[in-house]
Amino acid sequence: MQQTKYILEEKDIPTHWYNVVADMPNPPAPPLGPDGKPVGPDALTAIFPDNIIEQEVSHERWIKIPDEVRQAYTMWRPAPLFRAHRLETALGTKCKIFYKYEGVSPAGSHKLNSAIAQAYYNKQAGIKRLTTETGAGQWGSSLALAGHMFGIEVRIFMVKVSYQQKPFRRSMMQAWGAEVLASPTPVTEYGRRLLAADPDNPGSLGIAISEAVEEAASRADTKYSLGSVLNHVLLHQTVIGLEAKKQLEMIGEYPDMVFAPCGGGSNFGGIAFPFLADKAAGKNVRLVAVEPTSCPSLTRGHYAYDYGDTAGMTPMMLQYTLGHDFMPPSIHAGGLRYHGASSLVSQLYNEKLIEAVAVPQLATFDAGVAFARAEGIIPAPESCHGISAVIEEVKRCNEAGEAKTLLFNLSGHGHFDMASYDKFFAGQLEDYVYPEEEIAAALHRLPSVPV
Ligand SMILES: *Cc1c(COP(=O)(O)O)cnc(C)c1O
Repeated sequence: MQQTKYILEEKDIPTHWYNVVADMPNPPAPPLGPDGKPVGPDALTAIFPDNIIEQEVSHERWIKIPDEVRQAYTMWRPAPLFRAHRLETALGTKCKIFYKYEGVSPAGSHKLNSAIAQAYYNKQAGIKRLTTETGAGQWGSSLALAGHMFGIEVRIFMVKVSYQQKPFRRSMMQAWGAEVLASPTPVTEYGRRLLAADPDNPGSLGIAISEAVEEAASRADTKYSLGSVLNHVLLHQTVIGLEAKKQLEMIGEYPDMVFAPCGGGSNFGGIAFPFLADKAAGKNVRLVAVEPTSCPSLTRGHYAYDYGDTAGMTPMMLQYTLGHDFMPPSIHAGGLRYHGASSLVSQLYNEKLIEAVAVPQLATFDAGVAFARAEGIIPAPESCHGISAVIEEVKRCNEAGEAKTLLFNLSGHGHFDMASYDKFFAGQLEDYVYPEEEIAAALHRLPSVPV
């Protein structure tokens, strides 16, 4: 059998994160306050420590990874890069398919890359407690572990439907010492208001963010931590792409196209941005974000200023959005059910430096099963989106007689998502295309700000 796995040594873990802002043709659009005017960094001090805010607004190309963070990364990094020989054979293609596997982290996904950095910086800033939200539980479990490693208490607002449907993710967070509450909760004013109106409110990511932000803003010992969307989170995730580039370099390969699933945009930015640096220098590489047809923020959303949460507590950010009050249909890729997208990813998409496609749910599970049978790893439902788009591209190449080199990010394993696979095998999953009327209606509920 041909070699399939490319591993680096600990010394090859990147020493710096890559900040894409330095290579963007235009500076990032500023976040806006309630008065519609750009907010300065100090608008964020109620919920983030200064060292994180500094990263959030940095234009520096390379930002040093602190030694303690690099040391923590050695638990599972460098992550392996695989050549999917068996999948190539199964698809009968001349394309080369490579994937970076982030499921080797103790929490099972890429999210720990940023959780560790955020816990470290909060510890440095003297913070004792962190609040956060989690949907499917991947971010919550990552922050639970990272918080424990750095001696920080973590309280997690978990979307109520997921709290009920994903008990094992909840126990993971508890195993690592975090407190998990079903959101909406009675512990915040916003949660109490929603429960009074509807005691059975199933919750959403936007609502859980509002609760976590409200609590962090109201306590001096507590800050808030977000698992995706913001610039500093995408920055931390660039270790994925930096390692992948080095691994491909080792074997003299370079991708024609790079794919990743896209919810808030952190694992996509993580693998794609280091390649965007080459693109900015004139190299020909296509970067494709893959989202669900049921939550198509990039491909069908409005490019407008909107809030990051449901209650409208965060600054407004320019992004592709389905409206901050979006109630997501209950698809199984919980990590992709966010109304908006990272404003860096959104701006690069708007300027046509990156591409986006939407894929339907059933095709993603078909792709995940085909991948598991060929490569052995059972992918997270979110990751299946990237795989599905890769398989589509391979089919296109086969028909056109082309042979491309494709790279994708396998953002996590699916071991805690087997109930979703169960439903798929039982024929109980459906495709869902987000209705045009809903998209049009959201436009009228966006905060009115001139773009
Ligand atoms: C959270 C998650 C995603 C989507 O979030 P991004 O911030 O867009 O990366 C994708 N895959 C997995 C495994 C996740 O846990």
